[in-house]
Formats: sequence, structure tokens, C-alpha cells
Amino acid sequence: MSLAAHTLNHASRSRAKSISFIGLGRMGSEMAYNLFSNRMADTSHFRFVVCDAVPETASRFSDNFRKHFRGANIAVAANPEEATLASETIVTMLPSSPHVRQVYHDSGGIIPTLRSLPSADASNTLCIDSTTLDVQVGRDVAAEAEAAGAGMVDAPVSGGVTGAKAGTLSFLVGGSKASFGRASPILSLMGQRIIHCGPAGSGLAAKICNNLVLGVQQVVVAEAMLLGQRLGLDPSTLARVINNSTGACWASSVNNPVPGALAAKSAPCERDFEGGFATALMIKDLGLAMDVSKASGSPLPLTSAAERVYVEAVRRDGELAKKDFSSVYRYLERGM
Ligand code: NAD
Repeated sequence: MSLAAHTLNHASRSRAKSISFIGLGRMGSEMAYNLFSNRMADTSHFRFVVCDAVPETASRFSDNFRKHFRGANIAVAANPEEATLASETIVTMLPSSPHVRQVYHDSGGIIPTLRSLPSADASNTLCIDSTTLDVQVGRDVAAEAEAAGAGMVDAPVSGGVTGAKAGTLSFLVGGSKASFGRASPILSLMGQRIIHCGPAGSGLAAKICNNLVLGVQQVVVAEAMLLGQRLGLDPSTLARVINNSTGACWASSVNNPVPGALAAKSAPCERDFEGGFATALMIKDLGLAMDVSKASGSPLPLTSAAERVYVEAVRRDGELAKKDFSSVYRYLERGM
């Protein structure tokens, strides 16, 4: 069902009790499901609107949601314009900077649509972008959305698909105190920790800094686990030593890349590195860090080295792009 005719006639009245979610991929579909179902538990009078570049993805989500929640008021928007006309709250979860520019900035996007609305409707609108993207692009988009009258926060997430599904994500939020205050109750329907990091772009800055630590640590844990075994150590003994010593980190204690090293057997390496956080996404995030480091004059020698290792791993074996980034161990094991 397209929303255009209905929303164009009833914009102001129906927008207040409507939430649009754009980008229903691996993360977005889980987040939207939690957001909508938790909102349904609050009140059944909300309308939900979904939108994706692949229309079948949005229809599938809508059909599935209706199966779980009979009577749910959920509709598919054909494009960001319809999603903006329909709802005062708009959440976006897109791959990266070009997609965010397209959805917000291009003609038929959120910002041109906001400019076409009566000013009261525009100023009641809140945009929440959870995409991990370039800090400067995030800041520019937020400034444009605010100039059009809306509130906006960048709210990238930590916690992966598992956290998105369980509703335990951490949101790292950038934006004014007022926009943060408006966004918090919505974010809390999808996550457990909502951290205000500062003005627009600060959530993205925090996310990129966290992920460069993670990206470097995962390579170095893979190096240590491989070296230790070649020196005759049992991987579970070595993991126990590191995890109880000064080398302890998530990359070793939760995401250890050697099968059998952790008693829990829940790391991606136990299932051929399927699931988890794709190497391609880690390469994207390290690239974002490298870009801002040049612009801000902050050297990142280890991040740069780690990025090269992941890029080369994927160049040698394209399969690793989709596998968890701890599969960098497999690349080192094969002798680079
Ligand atoms: P994904 O590729 O699975 O999903 C992106 C969705 O956006 C797709 O459904 C795609 O069709 C849709 N899309 C693309 N362009 C669009 C457009 N112009 N209009 C409407 N929809 C459009 O990606 P994902 O894994 O869900 O990741 C989303 C974001 O979350 C990325 O920025 C990623 O870095 C970040 N992230 C991902 C993870 C993870 O584990 N997957 C963890 C933390 C953060």
C-alpha cells in the first residue's frame, strides 16, 4: 500500500503518532521490529511505516510484522519523501555516507520534503540516523535537517546483529541536548545504553574511535594466538593467560579467533566465522577513521597497518569479506 495520497491529505494530524524506519537490512530489520513491537506494547494507536531501496524487503518486513501483531497499523512507503510526509519520527539505518546523502539530501529525500512542510510540522520532526558514516557528512546532514526546522541526532550503534535482535544495543548519540532528550525514549525501545557523546557528529566520532581500537586488537590477538600455537602452546591455555593478564580484551575473551580456545564456544570461529561483524564493515569503519585522521591531522599508524591487513586478507580470499573480521586469523595462518 502506497502512503502518498493518504499522507498528503492528512499530514499534520497523523504524523504525530507515526514512526518511519528507512533501511531494513541486517541491523535495521531487527531494530525496527523491537521499536515497533515495544511501541505497540505502550499504545496500540501508533502507525508504523517502513521503507527500503529494495521494495520487497519493506513488504516482507511489513507482512511478517502483521503476522506477529494482528491488527498492527503498518504500511510501506515507496520513498523517503512518503516516509517523511507520514511521520514525525524518522529512523534511518543505511550502509554508509552515499546512502545517507541520497536518503536525506537528494531530491525526493527527507530534507527537501521537510522544507515543503508547514513550519510547525517540520519543527515537530525528529530524525535519528543510526548509520555508521563519515563524521563530516553526518554533521552536514544534521545541519541541513536543523536548518529545515527538524531535530536530528546521529546515533550509531555498538552490539551487532545479536544486540539489535536482543534489544541490547548501545547508542552513541551526537546532537543538541534537546534532540537527545527527544531521541532517548525512542532509542531505549531498541537498546540498553544511550550515551550522549556531545554535539552533532560526536556519536559517529565515538563509534569510529571505538572500532579502530577493536580492529587493531583483533589483528594483534590473531597474531598472538598463532605465534603461541607455533611455539607449542595449547590455544585454550594461551587464551586463559591473555584473558587473565594485561593483554585481556574483547577480541580475545569473547571474539577469540581460534576454535576451542574459549570454553563458551560461542565465538564466530566456532561456526566458520559466519555471523558476527563482517570484515567488509570493519574495512569500511577503518577507512572512515583514516579519512578523518587526515582531515584532523591525527596520526593513526596502527589503524593504517590493520586496515592494510584486512584489505589484503579480503583481496586474497573474497569469502572473508562477508565473514566475521576475526577471520583475519585464517589469513595469517595461511602465511599472508
Ligand atoms: P545492510 O546492508 O544489511 O542493510 C542496509 C539496508 O539499507 C538494506 O536493506 C538496503 O537495501 C537499504 N538501503 C540502501 N540504500 C538505501 C536507500 N537509498 N534507501 C532506502 N534503503 C536503502 O547493513 P547493516 O548490516 O544493517 O548495517 C547498517 C549500518 O549499521 C552500517 O552503517 C553498519 O556499518 C552499521 N553497523 C552494522 C553492524 C553489523 O554487525 N551488521 C554493527 C554495528 C553497526
